[in-house]
Amino acid sequence: MNIIQVYKQFPTHADCIKHLEKVRWNNEPVCPYCGSKNQSSLPKEQRYHCNNCNTTFSVTVNTIFHKTKVDLQKWFLAISLVLNAKKGLSARQLGRDIEVTKDTAWYMLMRIRKTFVDDADLLEGIIEVDETYVGGKNKNRHKDKKTEGGQGRGGDDKTAVVGTLQRDGKVRAQKVKDVSAKTLHGIVKQNVKKGSQLMTDEWKSYNGLALLYGHSIVKHAMGEYVNGAVHTNTLEGFWSLLKRGVIGQFHYVSPKYLNKYIDEFCFRYNNRENKNIFSDTILKAVKS
Ligand SMILES: [Zn+2]
Repeated sequence: MNIIQVYKQFPTHADCIKHLEKVRWNNEPVCPYCGSKNQSSLPKEQRYHCNNCNTTFSVTVNTIFHKTKVDLQKWFLAISLVLNAKKGLSARQLGRDIEVTKDTAWYMLMRIRKTFVDDADLLEGIIEVDETYVGGKNKNRHKDKKTEGGQGRGGDDKTAVVGTLQRDGKVRAQKVKDVSAKTLHGIVKQNVKKGSQLMTDEWKSYNGLALLYGHSIVKHAMGEYVNGAVHTNTLEGFWSLLKRGVIGQFHYVSPKYLNKYIDEFCFRYNNRENKNIFSDTILKAVKS
Protein backbone atom coordinates (compact mmCIF):
# COMPACT_ATOMS: atom_id res chain seq x y z
CA MET A 1 0.00 0.00 0.00
CA ASN A 2 1.23 3.48 -0.80
CA ILE A 3 0.73 6.35 1.65
CA ILE A 4 -2.51 7.55 0.05
CA GLN A 5 -4.06 4.10 0.48
CA VAL A 6 -2.84 3.90 4.09
CA TYR A 7 -4.11 7.41 4.76
CA LYS A 8 -7.58 6.52 3.41
CA GLN A 9 -7.84 3.11 5.04
CA PHE A 10 -6.66 4.32 8.46
CA PRO A 11 -7.93 7.87 8.80
CA THR A 12 -7.54 8.05 12.59
CA HIS A 13 -5.52 6.67 15.48
CA ALA A 14 -8.66 4.74 16.57
CA ASP A 15 -8.88 3.01 13.18
CA CYS A 16 -5.28 1.86 13.57
CA ILE A 17 -6.01 0.50 17.07
CA LYS A 18 -9.00 -1.40 15.70
CA HIS A 19 -6.88 -2.86 12.95
CA LEU A 20 -4.13 -3.94 15.36
CA GLU A 21 -6.69 -5.56 17.66
CA LYS A 22 -7.98 -7.61 14.75
CA VAL A 23 -4.50 -8.61 13.57
CA ARG A 24 -3.12 -9.38 17.03
CA TRP A 25 -6.11 -10.85 18.85
CA ASN A 26 -8.69 -11.54 16.18
CA ASN A 27 -10.76 -9.09 18.23
CA GLU A 28 -10.59 -11.23 21.39
CA PRO A 29 -8.20 -9.35 23.68
CA VAL A 30 -5.71 -11.35 25.75
CA CYS A 31 -3.88 -9.75 28.68
CA PRO A 32 -0.21 -9.49 27.60
CA TYR A 33 0.92 -9.78 31.24
CA CYS A 34 -0.97 -12.85 32.51
CA GLY A 35 -2.68 -14.33 29.43
CA SER A 36 -6.18 -13.97 30.85
CA LYS A 37 -9.13 -13.28 28.58
CA ASN A 38 -11.19 -11.91 31.48
CA GLN A 39 -11.13 -8.14 31.09
CA SER A 40 -13.30 -5.06 31.09
CA SER A 41 -13.17 -2.66 28.20
CA LEU A 42 -12.16 0.98 28.83
CA PRO A 43 -13.45 2.36 25.52
CA LYS A 44 -12.56 5.99 26.17
CA GLU A 45 -8.85 5.20 26.64
CA GLN A 46 -8.95 2.36 24.07
CA ARG A 47 -7.52 0.12 26.76
CA TYR A 48 -8.61 -2.90 28.78
CA HIS A 49 -8.58 -3.64 32.46
CA CYS A 50 -7.48 -7.20 33.24
CA ASN A 51 -9.76 -8.60 35.94
CA ASN A 52 -7.27 -11.34 36.69
CA CYS A 53 -4.00 -9.45 37.33
CA ASN A 54 -5.57 -6.03 37.83
CA THR A 55 -3.46 -4.14 35.27
CA THR A 56 -4.57 -2.17 32.25
CA PHE A 57 -3.23 -2.73 28.76
CA SER A 58 -3.73 -1.73 25.14
CA VAL A 59 -3.04 -3.62 21.94
CA THR A 60 0.35 -1.92 21.55
CA VAL A 61 1.92 -3.51 24.67
CA ASN A 62 5.08 -5.45 23.71
CA THR A 63 4.88 -4.41 20.07
CA ILE A 64 7.09 -1.95 18.18
CA PHE A 65 4.46 0.67 19.08
CA HIS A 66 4.82 0.04 22.83
CA LYS A 67 4.48 3.25 24.89
CA THR A 68 4.68 5.45 21.84
CA LYS A 69 3.34 8.98 22.07
CA VAL A 70 3.17 9.28 18.31
CA ASP A 71 -0.23 8.93 16.65
CA LEU A 72 -0.53 5.41 15.19
CA GLN A 73 -1.57 6.78 11.83
CA LYS A 74 1.88 8.37 11.62
CA TRP A 75 3.41 5.00 12.41
CA PHE A 76 1.38 3.32 9.66
CA LEU A 77 2.37 6.05 7.21
CA ALA A 78 6.03 5.69 8.27
CA ILE A 79 5.93 1.94 7.64
CA SER A 80 4.44 2.49 4.19
CA LEU A 81 7.06 5.15 3.38
CA VAL A 82 9.96 2.90 4.43
CA LEU A 83 8.60 -0.08 2.51
CA ASN A 84 8.29 2.03 -0.63
CA ALA A 85 11.63 3.84 -0.29
CA LYS A 86 13.80 1.84 -2.68
CA LYS A 87 16.90 3.86 -1.81
CA GLY A 88 16.16 4.07 1.91
CA LEU A 89 14.63 6.84 3.98
CA SER A 90 16.61 9.06 6.32
CA ALA A 91 15.28 10.10 9.73
CA ARG A 92 15.44 13.73 8.59
CA GLN A 93 13.25 13.00 5.56
CA LEU A 94 10.78 10.86 7.50
CA GLY A 95 10.55 13.58 10.15
CA ARG A 96 9.56 16.09 7.48
CA ASP A 97 7.12 13.69 5.82
CA ILE A 98 5.08 12.82 8.90
CA GLU A 99 5.79 15.96 10.97
CA VAL A 100 7.76 14.55 13.88
CA THR A 101 11.23 15.56 15.07
CA LYS A 102 14.29 13.98 13.50
CA ASP A 103 15.02 12.16 16.78
CA THR A 104 11.52 10.71 16.96
CA ALA A 105 11.76 9.65 13.32
CA TRP A 106 15.11 7.97 13.99
CA TYR A 107 13.63 6.07 16.91
CA MET A 108 10.61 5.02 14.84
CA LEU A 109 12.86 3.79 12.02
CA MET A 110 14.92 1.71 14.44
CA ARG A 111 11.76 0.10 15.74
CA ILE A 112 10.30 -0.49 12.29
CA ARG A 113 13.56 -2.17 11.23
CA LYS A 114 12.99 -4.77 13.96
CA THR A 115 10.29 -6.26 11.73
CA PHE A 116 12.73 -6.65 8.84
CA VAL A 117 14.49 -9.77 10.08
CA ASP A 118 14.26 -12.55 7.52
CA ASP A 119 13.23 -16.16 8.13
CA ALA A 120 16.01 -18.70 8.38
CA ASP A 121 15.39 -20.94 5.35
CA LEU A 122 18.62 -21.88 3.61
CA LEU A 123 19.25 -20.52 0.12
CA GLU A 124 19.69 -23.14 -2.59
CA GLY A 125 20.33 -23.50 -6.31
CA ILE A 126 22.68 -21.01 -7.95
CA ILE A 127 24.11 -18.73 -5.26
CA GLU A 128 26.21 -15.63 -5.80
CA VAL A 129 28.61 -14.86 -2.93
CA ASP A 130 30.51 -11.59 -2.70
CA GLU A 131 31.99 -9.07 -0.25
CA THR A 132 31.93 -5.32 -0.34
CA TYR A 133 32.76 -2.31 1.84
CA VAL A 134 30.22 0.16 3.14
CA GLY A 135 30.24 3.39 5.10
CA GLY A 136 33.21 5.48 6.02
CA LYS A 137 33.69 9.19 5.73
CA ASN A 138 32.99 11.12 2.55
CA LYS A 139 36.63 11.79 1.75
CA ASN A 140 37.30 8.07 1.55
CA ARG A 141 34.46 7.25 -0.80
CA HIS A 142 36.81 6.49 -3.67
CA LYS A 143 37.92 3.46 -1.70
CA ASP A 144 34.53 1.89 -2.42
CA LYS A 145 36.14 0.18 -5.33
CA LYS A 146 37.74 -3.15 -4.85
CA THR A 147 41.43 -3.27 -5.44
CA GLU A 148 42.76 -5.24 -8.35
CA GLY A 149 42.49 -8.96 -8.05
CA GLY A 150 39.16 -8.71 -6.29
CA GLN A 151 40.82 -8.64 -2.92
CA GLY A 152 38.17 -6.35 -1.61
CA ARG A 153 40.27 -4.27 0.72
CA GLY A 154 38.43 -1.18 1.89
CA GLY A 155 39.58 1.92 3.70
CA ASP A 156 40.24 1.59 7.40
CA ASP A 157 37.01 3.35 8.29
CA LYS A 158 34.88 1.10 6.11
CA THR A 159 33.01 -1.97 7.22
CA ALA A 160 33.16 -5.26 5.32
CA VAL A 161 29.83 -6.77 4.33
CA VAL A 162 29.31 -10.27 2.95
CA GLY A 163 26.29 -11.35 0.96
CA THR A 164 24.77 -14.53 -0.44
CA LEU A 165 22.12 -14.24 -3.13
CA GLN A 166 20.00 -16.96 -4.68
CA ARG A 167 19.40 -16.26 -8.37
CA ASP A 168 15.71 -15.30 -8.76
CA GLY A 169 15.40 -15.60 -4.99
CA LYS A 170 16.44 -13.98 -1.76
CA VAL A 171 19.51 -12.10 -0.65
CA ARG A 172 21.14 -12.23 2.79
CA ALA A 173 23.86 -9.87 3.91
CA GLN A 174 25.62 -8.90 7.12
CA LYS A 175 28.64 -6.97 8.32
CA VAL A 176 31.72 -9.01 9.16
CA LYS A 177 34.89 -8.31 11.10
CA ASP A 178 37.10 -9.56 8.26
CA VAL A 179 36.95 -11.40 4.95
CA SER A 180 39.08 -14.37 6.01
CA ALA A 181 38.34 -17.91 4.83
CA LYS A 182 37.02 -18.78 8.29
CA THR A 183 34.51 -15.91 8.26
CA LEU A 184 33.37 -16.38 4.66
CA HIS A 185 33.05 -20.17 4.89
CA GLY A 186 31.04 -19.75 8.10
CA ILE A 187 28.59 -17.38 6.42
CA VAL A 188 28.17 -19.57 3.37
CA LYS A 189 27.50 -22.66 5.52
CA GLN A 190 25.01 -20.72 7.66
CA ASN A 191 23.02 -19.49 4.68
CA VAL A 192 23.43 -21.91 1.78
CA LYS A 193 22.27 -25.49 1.41
CA LYS A 194 25.03 -28.01 0.75
CA GLY A 195 25.35 -29.04 -2.89
CA SER A 196 24.29 -25.63 -4.22
CA GLN A 197 26.31 -24.02 -7.00
CA LEU A 198 28.36 -21.05 -5.73
CA MET A 199 29.47 -18.18 -7.97
CA THR A 200 32.30 -16.06 -6.55
CA ASP A 201 35.21 -13.98 -7.71
CA GLU A 202 38.77 -15.22 -7.25
CA TRP A 203 39.31 -13.92 -3.69
CA LYS A 204 41.40 -16.62 -2.02
CA SER A 205 39.19 -16.92 1.06
CA TYR A 206 36.60 -18.72 -1.08
CA ASN A 207 39.03 -21.56 -1.75
CA GLY A 208 37.98 -24.83 -0.15
CA LEU A 209 34.23 -24.32 -0.47
CA ALA A 210 34.24 -26.80 -3.38
CA LEU A 211 34.37 -29.58 -0.79
CA LEU A 212 30.72 -28.90 0.10
CA TYR A 213 29.43 -26.97 -2.90
CA GLY A 214 29.79 -26.62 -6.63
CA HIS A 215 32.07 -23.60 -7.10
CA SER A 216 32.45 -21.47 -10.23
CA ILE A 217 34.87 -18.56 -10.23
CA VAL A 218 34.76 -15.42 -12.34
CA LYS A 219 38.22 -13.87 -12.73
CA HIS A 220 37.80 -10.16 -12.22
CA ALA A 221 41.56 -9.61 -12.32
CA MET A 222 41.58 -10.91 -15.88
CA GLY A 223 38.94 -8.32 -16.81
CA GLU A 224 36.32 -11.03 -16.83
CA TYR A 225 32.98 -10.01 -15.35
CA VAL A 226 30.58 -12.40 -16.98
CA ASN A 227 31.45 -15.86 -18.20
CA GLY A 228 28.14 -17.32 -19.29
CA ALA A 229 26.13 -17.98 -16.16
CA VAL A 230 29.24 -17.50 -14.01
CA HIS A 231 29.02 -14.03 -12.53
CA THR A 232 28.11 -12.14 -9.36
CA ASN A 233 26.31 -9.30 -11.14
CA THR A 234 22.97 -9.74 -9.37
CA LEU A 235 24.62 -9.36 -5.98
CA GLU A 236 26.72 -6.45 -7.24
CA GLY A 237 23.48 -4.78 -8.32
CA PHE A 238 22.20 -5.19 -4.78
CA TRP A 239 25.46 -3.73 -3.40
CA SER A 240 25.08 -0.62 -5.50
CA LEU A 241 21.52 -0.17 -4.26
CA LEU A 242 22.71 -0.56 -0.67
CA LYS A 243 25.61 1.85 -1.15
CA ARG A 244 23.52 4.47 -2.92
CA GLY A 245 21.15 4.23 0.02
CA VAL A 246 23.83 4.49 2.67
CA ILE A 247 25.68 7.33 0.96
CA GLY A 248 22.72 9.19 -0.52
CA GLN A 249 20.23 8.98 2.31
CA PHE A 250 22.22 8.34 5.42
CA HIS A 251 25.52 10.08 4.60
CA TYR A 252 27.23 8.23 7.37
CA VAL A 253 26.18 4.99 9.00
CA SER A 254 27.78 3.96 12.23
CA PRO A 255 29.05 0.36 12.05
CA LYS A 256 26.97 -0.30 15.17
CA TYR A 257 23.73 0.15 13.22
CA LEU A 258 24.91 -1.07 9.85
CA ASN A 259 23.23 -4.49 10.13
CA LYS A 260 19.88 -2.80 10.74
CA TYR A 261 20.21 -0.83 7.50
CA ILE A 262 21.36 -3.93 5.65
CA ASP A 263 18.35 -5.89 6.97
CA GLU A 264 16.10 -3.14 5.68
CA PHE A 265 17.59 -3.26 2.18
CA CYS A 266 17.48 -7.09 2.13
CA PHE A 267 13.87 -7.06 3.30
CA ARG A 268 12.77 -4.67 0.55
CA TYR A 269 14.69 -6.67 -2.05
CA ASN A 270 13.26 -9.98 -0.84
CA ASN A 271 9.73 -8.65 -0.85
CA ARG A 272 9.99 -6.88 -4.20
CA GLU A 273 7.09 -8.94 -5.57
CA ASN A 274 5.09 -9.27 -2.34
CA LYS A 275 1.79 -7.40 -2.78
CA ASN A 276 0.93 -7.90 0.93
CA ILE A 277 4.13 -6.44 2.30
CA PHE A 278 2.33 -3.74 4.32
CA SER A 279 -0.03 -6.21 6.08
CA ASP A 280 2.84 -8.65 6.57
CA THR A 281 4.88 -5.91 8.25
CA ILE A 282 2.00 -4.87 10.51
CA LEU A 283 1.57 -8.51 11.49
CA LYS A 284 5.28 -8.80 12.35
CA ALA A 285 5.08 -5.49 14.22
CA VAL A 286 2.49 -6.81 16.66
CA LYS A 287 3.76 -10.37 16.91
CA SER A 288 7.39 -9.51 17.50
ZN1 LIG B 1 -3.67 -9.89 33.27
